[in-house]
Amino acid sequence: MISLESPISDLNKVGPRYLKRLHSLGLKTVADLFFHFPYRYDDFSQIVAIADLKEGQTAAICGKVAEIANIRTWKKRMNITEALIKDKSGSIKAIWFNQPYIADSLKKDTQANFCGKVTFAKNVLSLSNPIYEILRQNETTHTGRLVPVYHETAGLSSRYLRFLIKPLIYLADGLDDYLPSAIKKEYGLIDLSRAVKSIHFPGSITESDTARFRLSFDELYLIQLMVLKKRQALKLKKALAVPFNQKLIKDFVKSLPFKLTNDQRIAAWEIFLDLSKERPMNRLLDGDVGSGKTVVAAMAALAVADAGFQAALMAPTEILAKQHFQTLKTLLKESSLRIGLLTSLDYRVNKRKIPSKAALKKQIAQGKIDLLIGTHALIQKDVVFNKLVLAIVDEQHRFGIKQRASLVKSSNLNDYLPHLLSMTATPIPRTLALTIYGDLDISLLKQMPKGRKPVITKLVAPANRQKAYDFIKEQVKDKKQVFVICPLIDQSEKLEVKSVTEEYEKLNNEVFPDLKILMLHGKLKPKEKEKIMLDFKNQKAAILVSTSVVEVGVDIPNAAIMMIEGADRFGLAQLHQFRGRVGRSNDQAWCFLFTDSYTAKTQKRLKAIVGCHNGFDLAEKDLSIRGPGQISGTRQWGLPDLTMASLSDIGLLKLTRAAAQKTITENLFDLPLSNRLKLFNKQIHLE
Ligand code: ADP
Ligand code: MG
Repeated sequence: MISLESPISDLNKVGPRYLKRLHSLGLKTVADLFFHFPYRYDDFSQIVAIADLKEGQTAAICGKVAEIANIRTWKKRMNITEALIKDKSGSIKAIWFNQPYIADSLKKDTQANFCGKVTFAKNVLSLSNPIYEILRQNETTHTGRLVPVYHETAGLSSRYLRFLIKPLIYLADGLDDYLPSAIKKEYGLIDLSRAVKSIHFPGSITESDTARFRLSFDELYLIQLMVLKKRQALKLKKALAVPFNQKLIKDFVKSLPFKLTNDQRIAAWEIFLDLSKERPMNRLLDGDVGSGKTVVAAMAALAVADAGFQAALMAPTEILAKQHFQTLKTLLKESSLRIGLLTSLDYRVNKRKIPSKAALKKQIAQGKIDLLIGTHALIQKDVVFNKLVLAIVDEQHRFGIKQRASLVKSSNLNDYLPHLLSMTATPIPRTLALTIYGDLDISLLKQMPKGRKPVITKLVAPANRQKAYDFIKEQVKDKKQVFVICPLIDQSEKLEVKSVTEEYEKLNNEVFPDLKILMLHGKLKPKEKEKIMLDFKNQKAAILVSTSVVEVGVDIPNAAIMMIEGADRFGLAQLHQFRGRVGRSNDQAWCFLFTDSYTAKTQKRLKAIVGCHNGFDLAEKDLSIRGPGQISGTRQWGLPDLTMASLSDIGLLKLTRAAAQKTITENLFDLPLSNRLKLFNKQIHLE
């Protein structure tokens, strides 16, 4: 007996080869198949009389096979199957290429539906490569109806999936509807089993829309529930309160060589307010590269140290950790903070190198270090803090939940969680902030410090390429440095390495034979990448050719030109991030965009970035034009396609958030919902 829980290996239509393919999409049981949704439908519901067919039309006919034969063409070494199909109104030729077995299943006199494109060649109309379905019962799967089309990945055709799902779809009646009935009623949602049946085999487009609404509602609702529950769980945890010391902060702000922006002031205030509570802060500080997040972090660390506690700052790479160490030492030089640096290679306290790493760890354990800066070396087991009260994490989406938890564990204050401040330069659009980041409180730095010159951005026509190179030569004479970003190639690292290598050879041999050029790509080991970045930072080369892996946040004040090849392949937000890697001093900087694509759409998109210097606006634009997949980091979340598609639907986001809120406040949880949530939790990873 096949049931919803049956493994798909029990289905006799699934052989070992297809089992592997289905597994690669995470489809293990019959129920999993049901939750693999089509993304569109072919409308083959209207049967057309053969005599009415017109060239160019994609149509469905119903007729009898009058003749059928395989023909081999020796020249092209191809098999062609030709058939003549007849109905009451007339006849038409049908042609298939390299599928000789069709002649075996479509014997003469078979009655079938045929759907495909009508083409006109050699003076006759014919159907080329039509989908066909032999009529046995009244019901059809592939023709004569709205036919579901699935993403054809992993070598699975839509025809195969329909063939698999259709005979089993009645089992969907047994699906447990996990949505609380109060929620279903309030939002006018249909039953889960009906929705699942309708999304695969709808009777009409209205029916599939209703099903899609119910199923997208579910997925967003589950995300919202997950995030709200996280938020709730955190509220029950305790943290040590850090009293606000107004004089201390005022004096610090006065000591700075610049005036804080209003956004920095507000963000700092929000953080002090969080820190003063006995509940753990969970705050994201989000601001473009150069918006001044570090000084805000410094103020938080200062407040914590002043109250007699410890703070830690974790950076994703060695270079960034060292950079933070230098910057924070300078910013906090008037204070008496003892600042330590701990990476796998280096360890320091304030200016001096201390006798040994073990000695530093001892100082950390004794509470003699107020602010410890480092890489993931910070979360190793042997690093035990004395009174860790604040953890600051730079570029948080690179750190998983587990790593975050181990930072928590290394505190001596067993019953308390440290406050968490995470910083990111990826601008998060409002809709995503409401859902995926709904468990975090967010402080935004939308303003840039005064006096920063916007990077002059130009879309360069191919005819002006040489001019751009000449300009670069002039700038390099002036001791300026240049980034060259190579196009993104189909997510294939191998092809990217090839393209970087070719670009490097071209620049090195033909364009700039006199200049020193470095090369960076994703196939290099982390240590090698760091070495190259460091060499570039230390001006050992004028040009760095790289794929999109080039580090966020590394400060290279001399870099004045960002040149991006194949700019149309990148999202606007990502282009903006590349652009943020130049112009980090008071000198003017430039960004040159190159593209081979002259469609109105890409030109419009690229022109948008020429005139816009606000990362948040560009991220919103990306979200509306190209969908959430273009916001960096989103690909790794493992969200189902339907969810990804509805993440930009602000109306639905608001509905589902209200529904999730109601579920929590009115405690509408029951076992089916909890189980579904647990499963969903396992499938996705929002880091
Ligand atoms: P990011 O947000 O990218 O981490 P940083 O904190 O590294 O930015 O700041 C970039 C630069 O701007 C640093 O040199 C910093 O000293 C400077 N800076 C920060 N805030 C201001 C301000 N309000 N006015 C002028 N310069 C500032
Ligand atoms: Mg930074």
